[in-house]
Amino acid sequence: NLPLADVDPEIAAVLDQELGRQRGTLEMIASENFAPRAVMEAQGSVLTNKYAEGYPGRRYYGGCEYVDIAENLAIDRVKALFDAEFANVQPHSGAQANAAALSALINPGDKILGLSLAHGGHLTHGMKLNFSGKLYQVAAYQVEEDTFRIDMDKLREQALAERPQVIIAGWSAYPRHLDFAAFRSIADEVGAYLWTDMAHFAGLVAAGLHPSPVPHSHVVTSTVHKTLAGPRSGVILAKQEFGKKLNSNVFPGQQGGPLMHVIAAKAVAFKIAGSAEFKERQERVLEGARIIADRLNQQDVAEAGVSVLTGGTDVHLVLVDLRNSELDGQQAEDLLHAVGITVNRNAVPFDPRPPMVTSGLRIGTPALATRGFGANEFTEVGDIIATALKGGADLESLQARVDKLANDFPLYPGHEEW
Ligand code: PLP
Repeated sequence: NLPLADVDPEIAAVLDQELGRQRGTLEMIASENFAPRAVMEAQGSVLTNKYAEGYPGRRYYGGCEYVDIAENLAIDRVKALFDAEFANVQPHSGAQANAAALSALINPGDKILGLSLAHGGHLTHGMKLNFSGKLYQVAAYQVEEDTFRIDMDKLREQALAERPQVIIAGWSAYPRHLDFAAFRSIADEVGAYLWTDMAHFAGLVAAGLHPSPVPHSHVVTSTVHKTLAGPRSGVILAKQEFGKKLNSNVFPGQQGGPLMHVIAAKAVAFKIAGSAEFKERQERVLEGARIIADRLNQQDVAEAGVSVLTGGTDVHLVLVDLRNSELDGQQAEDLLHAVGITVNRNAVPFDPRPPMVTSGLRIGTPALATRGFGANEFTEVGDIIATALKGGADLESLQARVDKLANDFPLYPGHEEW
């Protein structure tokens, strides 16, 4: 029972270095966040030792009386949070939640219609190397070339022509709200199920700051670690009629023993997501994204060929269009990395550059809002990013401004070690 530093100094050093990196830089990857200490405590707990195949009250192992309490709390809390009839909290990840959702709804060989990966969709929505593209026939919809938005009339025409069994609403890179009622009406018209993947915007929905897909969708999946700021994992919500099929498609369909330590941590995250503090934080997430989009819309940035896709954002991320900039996505990502801001390059729709380079950046505000950033700090971050992307900036002075923000808003204050 020796501490990690004694048993494995190499891995202990990795943990220290990663904590230092997270503390010393500004994390703006839109899919990342900082799980609260309480979530980390539950996740790093003795519950990792327990096998609990099955569901609460119906396990294939003895000794599940306490982990049952944790799973029931997670289920009850997430149902209340999203006003859902049914929840399965066992998926190990977002991708596994999605695999279980599809296998519960349709059969291999059936057709799915989701947003193209190149236009902001996710791998699990039909990419050819993913299970979704291998098991199912795939039809993909796109955004419009002039607006970069999904045109619901065109989607309806495509659905009528393709006749998919499942229509997928949801994205990894799209800066606007989706019209879930319109998605459902198209699904009903063509006899398809509507599956919404709210992995990115679930925290905003929980806070009541984004339209909810739950009333309109047959099944809703999500990750728990993005805007929701919980442990890295997935969850499925649905109408009650799909409950039995979803349960059997998670276990034994996709998974073996559930990660009970992660499920306990999900319960904690869902409790926090119902708090007033969480809502206030999500308000700062949205405000920050709007402030950054506004700064990147200004003349000095436009002159450098940099613009904001769709002209702004309704959510926690801003998509930067670099198609007319001298910088490609890789160079822009590296430049911001050099001053201490972490973002990811991202293909923009109709991107002329190859996928490893891209002509875009995806910039998100959830992690910095968790760190305490408000309007003033996001104004400063927006100006640092704008100055860097315009070109010719003094990188040392930008790095000094980043350092000041990182020092003024310590990560995990009062908790020096993990
Ligand atoms: N769905 C969407 C929309 C996502 O953006 C992601 C992750 O990026 C996932 C699913 C997959 O989640 P995970 O990485 O936990 O498998």
